[in-house]
Amino acid sequence: MNNHSIPIKGVLNKLTITDLDIKGKRLFIRADFNVPLDEDLNITDDRRVRSTLPTINYAIDEGAKIILTSHLGRPKGKVDKRYSLAPVAKRLQRLLRKEVLFLPDCIGPDVEDSVSKMQEGDIVLLENLRFHPEEEKNDEKFSKALSKLADYYINDAFGAAHRAHASIVGITKFLPAAAGFLLRKEIEYLQGVVNSPVRPFVALLGGAKVSGKIGVLGNLENKVDKVIIGGGMAYTFLKALGYQVGDSLVEDEMLAFANNIREKVTAKGVKFYLPVDCVIAQSIEPGAETKIVPVQEIPKGWRALDIGPASVRLFTVALGNAKTILWNGPMGVFEIDAFSRGTFALAHAVADAYALTIVGGGDTDLAVSRAGVSPESISFISTGGGAALQLLEGKDLPGLVALRDKQ
Ligand code: AMP
Repeated sequence: MNNHSIPIKGVLNKLTITDLDIKGKRLFIRADFNVPLDEDLNITDDRRVRSTLPTINYAIDEGAKIILTSHLGRPKGKVDKRYSLAPVAKRLQRLLRKEVLFLPDCIGPDVEDSVSKMQEGDIVLLENLRFHPEEEKNDEKFSKALSKLADYYINDAFGAAHRAHASIVGITKFLPAAAGFLLRKEIEYLQGVVNSPVRPFVALLGGAKVSGKIGVLGNLENKVDKVIIGGGMAYTFLKALGYQVGDSLVEDEMLAFANNIREKVTAKGVKFYLPVDCVIAQSIEPGAETKIVPVQEIPKGWRALDIGPASVRLFTVALGNAKTILWNGPMGVFEIDAFSRGTFALAHAVADAYALTIVGGGDTDLAVSRAGVSPESISFISTGGGAALQLLEGKDLPGLVALRDKQ
């Protein structure tokens, strides 16, 4: 269920774009246009571009001069045409129905010259920031060179806000720095809702490893009413309980942690759910023979690669009375058809729940779109994998800390 009307505003204690008088001013907007491209350099998913439109449209309406910037991929500090932002300029132009002037670099006299000629409402997109090695080094000179282009700095790049890079942190030393609408929305959901949820609040956690989710579990243990664990990480929990899990993914060094956290949260009254059945195979391959077995009956040589239908039922019932659901991590190896059903079924269960629903961290958003669930049926799908995880772990984001505090 989509439920955007639930009041969660006012969480962000930083300046936002609406606090600035931007008419006629040059705005350096750091966006996250790190979109997936196919071999012919076509954008295969433009959600990150579309998510920044509210900020760009607001800046147009207010009569600002808009300088859009981003990284794309990992060009390792060198110019590499495969990582050019040129396709993004084209897509932006189509989405905005407005000319977007693409500049072949992000600093230097030519860029400064083009920017100096901008009129109110004009938009330029600078070339990939990471073509310069100084970007990822948070180099001061580079930060200063970027700052020369603008009067104000706006961070709308949630997906990169966990990186202390020049265009995220360094530049804020030289320009008044505020958040864009996307960044604000991400914080309102991933921090605001998670810290003051409407109850019952259920965390649905999956993904490969327990070790990747220790921080999230640790941060959520005092906030949730229920924890549901699926994915590869479930088998470390099950082994810790004494089950034979065959060749399933198990982190032996995490067995004690798994038991401890389960006992700790259970003692607090948090309801804790693990799969009761699973889809097993002898190898992680598309054509592999599969069986559905109770978790008590995983044979040697077989590995659990998805939750089974009984677990789908159990988890769906457990989600039934939730008022807030946070979902992070797939229930199985959803990239392969034979092991995707559990994840896809839960995607539908989350979408159908009469709750405020948040999907974030890792590739859970991909699982939702592959499941055929319309994004509108989820209250909020985060645009940041690593950044979302870091927030859910209760940690600060360098890009957020660097913005000016609201008075
Ligand atoms: P994460 O980035 O930790 O959320 O992990 C996502 C990955 O976990 C996906 O690529 C899945 O293929 C993988 N995964 C989910 N369930 C299992 C499983 N039962 N065994 C192995 N890998 C899994």
